[in-house]
Amino acid sequence: RVNPQATRRIRLTRDLREALVQEQFEVHYQPIFNVAQERVDSVEALLRWRHPELGIVSPAEFVPLLESTGMIVPVGLWVLRKASEQLASWRSSGTTVESVAVNVSVVQLSQSNFSRDALAVVERTGIERTRVTIEVTESVLMENPERSIGQLCELRAAGLHVSIDDFGTGYSSLSYLRRLPVNTMKIDRSLLVDAINPEGRTILAAMVKLSAELGLDCVVEGVETLEQFHLLRDIGCARMQGYLFARPLPADEADAAVRRINLQHGQAQVRASSIQPGINHHPHGWAAA
Ligand code: C2E
Ligand code: MG
Ligand code: MG
Repeated sequence: RVNPQATRRIRLTRDLREALVQEQFEVHYQPIFNVAQERVDSVEALLRWRHPELGIVSPAEFVPLLESTGMIVPVGLWVLRKASEQLASWRSSGTTVESVAVNVSVVQLSQSNFSRDALAVVERTGIERTRVTIEVTESVLMENPERSIGQLCELRAAGLHVSIDDFGTGYSSLSYLRRLPVNTMKIDRSLLVDAINPEGRTILAAMVKLSAELGLDCVVEGVETLEQFHLLRDIGCARMQGYLFARPLPADEADAAVRRINLQHGQAQVRASSIQPGINHHPHGWAAA
């Protein structure tokens, strides 16, 4: 009996082999808002696959296939190159975007030459290394700690930044954090969703406080409503990312979104106080309202 899910997986795996040379991959960019500066200070690069017949396939579906076939290694370096080149282009045209975050998989980190290859890619684009943040998920560091941490230490020593993605979803012990070469704690959306309850709010606030006390930068992901924005601002969250500001967008649209968010922020703040919390579900976020 044929399992349709398995059939799709086999097809996608086969088609992925062609995707890089056929130029079916795109990098989209999602703004990250700096609360104190009241402007977008960075973006996260997110990989997209435009399949010729199936349309856009989610990275949640195809990244694991790239990992299991090892194709994530060349594709990952391609994403890093595109993102670094895009940042270089934005820097020369004037923008508040100071850095770019790129997701890196455990499969990449387990390659002994990853840090060397990644540094060479960044070097070629001419942007300062401190403008590139490597995002690795919390769980990654539990699976293959020694080699992964070694690679991350090399990247950190060379000047890149390191961010722990999806923080709060894994089972990392907090003391473990101190051993990691980390600049930023990226708190997972699920913790924000849970913050509708008082207990969840306490946990989220404690996480934000913890990051500050450990001297880490903090980003909360998945900010969708003004209610969440206000909650996060009140507990001292420095940076936020989510649909409230903008979805991940192709470079040109992301650039336009950044300008719009920066321009309209003051106005939005005034407007926010007259809007009831929790009712802003505009699909493009407040900036487009
Ligand atoms: P991630 O790195 O945690 O990225 C954040 C995900 O949350 C993105 O999903 C983004 O579109 C989504 N998101 C952003 N704001 C909101 C919001 O307000 N609400 C909700 N519900 N979601 C929001 P996306 O782009 O589908 O990526 C999924 C995952 O795929 C990423 O999670 C990352 O783990 C992986 N991924 C994406 N691009 C790459 C890549 O270039 N390399 C590797 N290794 N993994 C990647
Ligand atoms: Mg990420
Ligand atoms: Mg995440």
